[in-house]
Amino acid sequence: MFLLLFFFIFIVTYCSFCFLLVFVFVAGKKEVRVLILGLDNAGKTTILYKLYAPNRVIRTMPTIGFNVETVTYKNLNFSVWDLGGQTNIRPYWRCYYANTDAIIYVVDSADRERLGVSRKELLSMLAEEELKNARLLVFANKQDQKEAMSVVEVSQALGLHAIKDRQWHICKAAAIKGEGLSEGLDWLANAISGTGGATGTDDTTNDLAELSSASSIATEAQPTPTQ
Ligand code: GDP
Repeated sequence: MFLLLFFFIFIVTYCSFCFLLVFVFVAGKKEVRVLILGLDNAGKTTILYKLYAPNRVIRTMPTIGFNVETVTYKNLNFSVWDLGGQTNIRPYWRCYYANTDAIIYVVDSADRERLGVSRKELLSMLAEEELKNARLLVFANKQDQKEAMSVVEVSQALGLHAIKDRQWHICKAAAIKGEGLSEGLDWLANAISGTGGATGTDDTTNDLAELSSASSIATEAQPTPTQ
């Protein structure tokens, strides 16, 4: 009788422990909705698939419609939507805005001619009510190109210093080599989990000291509520 009772208690304890483990595992991974936006050819699809499968060789085609993948990073499940960036597709970006936690905005740093258009698209997107709580991570991509603008130049051209109502961050990237992406995602993960992410880039060049302080002033002025 005593043995039976002991066995019963053991089974109940064991099952409760297993249930708790499953619960912690499932509930511990927070779902985060992220949109990757930017002009066509900026490197959005490359970034998505570098995050999704870092070691795979990637050949991209212009995105008609969208690509979506789930990327797990630092106990967060990023549901990452890569939307086509061609002129005629951009008006449809807004169909995907609802419930977005963060925007990754990708800029081709070597495409000086279209930086003005990129800035215009960025600003009109940030003005959307549905995105008012979304954090903004900008990748100044294609830094491996000789003619690429520096991250400071891209930041100034986009007018990021004027953004005072949300957390934002810019970092340099060469998506094709997978460079700079984890730094950006680190910032995003911290910003979303509320453990930081308010200050500027963690890059260390001299130019970026200036950028860093610009970014922190912007974000400290009106910190975005974190979830
Ligand atoms: P999307 O239209 O924004 O999705 O851009 P894609 O990801 O399709 O990339 C457009 C082109 O840029 C492709 O030929 C990529 O291989 C190339 N590309 C993407 N990232 C980089 C990068 O960091 N450096 C260089 N040199 N090329 C890149």
